[in-house]
Amino acid sequence: MDELVSLCKRRGFIFQSNDIYGGIKGLYDYGPMGVELKNNLKQTWWKSMIYERDDIEGLDASILSAPDVLKYSGHEDTFTDPLVDCRSCKSRWRIDNLDNKLCPNCKSGDLTEPRPFNLMFKTNIGPVEDGSSFAYLRPETCQQIFTNFKNILDSTSRTIPFGIAQIGKAFRNEITPRNFIFRVREFEQMELEFFVEPGTDEKWHDYWVKKRFNWWVDQGINSNNLELLDVDQDDLSHYSSKTVDIMYTFPHGKEELEGIANRTDFDLGSHTKNQKDFNISSKVSKNDKSTTKLAVQNFENKKWYMPFVIEPSAGVERGFLAILNESYKYDEENSRTVLSLKPHLSPIKAAVIPLKRNNEELVNKAKKIKNNLQKIGLGRIMLENTGNIGKNYRRHDEIGTPICITVDFETLENNTVTVRDRDTMEQQRLNQDDLKTYYENYFD
Ligand code: ATP
Repeated sequence: MDELVSLCKRRGFIFQSNDIYGGIKGLYDYGPMGVELKNNLKQTWWKSMIYERDDIEGLDASILSAPDVLKYSGHEDTFTDPLVDCRSCKSRWRIDNLDNKLCPNCKSGDLTEPRPFNLMFKTNIGPVEDGSSFAYLRPETCQQIFTNFKNILDSTSRTIPFGIAQIGKAFRNEITPRNFIFRVREFEQMELEFFVEPGTDEKWHDYWVKKRFNWWVDQGINSNNLELLDVDQDDLSHYSSKTVDIMYTFPHGKEELEGIANRTDFDLGSHTKNQKDFNISSKVSKNDKSTTKLAVQNFENKKWYMPFVIEPSAGVERGFLAILNESYKYDEENSRTVLSLKPHLSPIKAAVIPLKRNNEELVNKAKKIKNNLQKIGLGRIMLENTGNIGKNYRRHDEIGTPICITVDFETLENNTVTVRDRDTMEQQRLNQDDLKTYYENYFD
């Protein structure tokens, strides 16, 4: 983990947030390379959910949430972790994270009884802070998918089964954020709520578990480092009848990367008015405030029913950490660090490097090549005008750039460039006119 943290800072992937004022625990900022990798990961998820399928719509809903949404979703009552105080050193901990129930700070066993601590952040909307205007920062992105269920049904031609996907920030006031970006207080989720007919939910749950496992393998994660965990009945969230977690062997140990839950009709049922009109599960929150019914009509028998929901919910930061960990290698033979990222995730797709810094002819030529490749639109191409080829190769190996293109004096004479492959380190001379095809084929 230390090596990854150090690489992230050195190469501009991740910085401690607010660090010039001492930093805030559990918050991180994504630098020039980090933001590209993160966007590539999110974009790949979005494409796989929406563009490559015909049964999912997208959404981007607000982060600030009306308290009623999180009251009826059950989060006000149940979204808690067990908190204990150490009477010796006055520090606070989550009891289920402590080894042998000892304070990690001073090793004292003199702890208070655990009490529930609600993880939701509150803020105020508008200028008056009298308690009547408070809102929550959403602790998961999906509640706004449920509250928009009818809007999306009414504005598209969707029928069950179909899904709504969203990527966005979520906030949890974790008692002990830790393990770099694994457990943080502000993070992003990639969530799909897939609505199905009751009775078909188990089949769809199995389908999504397989689909999501394979998706992580496609992002470059070795399947030997992934495992499916059937979550114990006693550990299930209040809304779930079954959850399978995709576990990954992170540098600090095996933990959850993504959870796939069968949320039954809990959420749509809990946000619905006139609940007695539907045959819904007994667990749903009783609701006398909702203005709408989130049910659908069966085409054939015309009966209204409450769909069930299968939810694959993945953390962007945990995905980022897993992918970084998988691709990080020290190549002893060539004394270099390499991030062998899958090219579609690489922050920089190709670096164009003029042999000599600020040489007008070389730099102009390099700029032209950069602009032409950039137009293809597969991601960021970088012009490296520092003149040190060896250093540039090392730097781009470390940030996972698959291709380096060097423009030298021969380029000016015969229009050829040197193309270097990150993984094999092989170099070949290519005519500039063939570069576009080479680049497109590489990423195809
Ligand atoms: P954990 O048990 O590790 O706290 P969880 O079961 O509470 O996770 P979910 O509510 O299922 O997590 O959230 C879905 C996904 O969101 C998780 O699989 C994880 O990838 C991500 N996630 C949840 N909490 C955090 C956090 N504090 N920091 C980073 N990612 C998180």
